[in-house]
Amino acid sequence: MEDKKIIIITAPSGSGKTTLVKELMKNVPDLAFSISACTRSPRENEVHGKDYYFYSVEEFKNLANKGAFLEWEMVYEGKFYGTLKSECERIWEDKKTPIFDIDVQGAMNLQKQYPHSSLSIFIQAPSLEELRNRLIKRGTETPETLEERINKAKAEQHSAPEFDAIIINDDLKIATNKLTNTVTDFLSGDEPDE
Ligand code: 5GP
Repeated sequence: MEDKKIIIITAPSGSGKTTLVKELMKNVPDLAFSISACTRSPRENEVHGKDYYFYSVEEFKNLANKGAFLEWEMVYEGKFYGTLKSECERIWEDKKTPIFDIDVQGAMNLQKQYPHSSLSIFIQAPSLEELRNRLIKRGTETPETLEERINKAKAEQHSAPEFDAIIINDDLKIATNKLTNTVTDFLSGDEPDE
């Protein structure tokens, strides 16, 4: 499995990571999104089997007990998220490279499992203030979950240097270009430039 590459994208919630990943995937067709399992409720427009596999806590725990995950975590209080081994296998069988959009702890965990075949990228919002504004604008959080996400983001910023590259998402176009170049270099065998 070690020679098969993986791309890990991580960031604090609200950094614009999901949008950037979508842009990246338009530019690099060899990538395929690894759909995670999670136990939070779907947001408007989110589809089971496309954005996530949405499970009950019981279903999720059964999968974890069966060893279905490469990594899993309680990312927020009572909300579990996990990377499915079956997704990775499906994508490799398709001769594509899986791309994971996961939280910082999960990203460090995967990076340890694939130290030589992974590219890990930390997406940073320009500031915590901007991150707060983006989360408010998204309108998906209650005051409590907003604070939980901000506090987690503060802690996660410290882990940025652990990753192969850091990309600041100030201007979407510039960040997309930088991300695309970093990923393309990695897939073609070059080392990341940061
Ligand atoms: P959201 O609820 O905003 O979709 O995601 C919350 C956080 O969970 C994000 O940082 C997202 O990247 C992360 N996440 C999504 N899937 C996984 C996963 O499979 N494993 C881990 N560890 N984190 C995940």
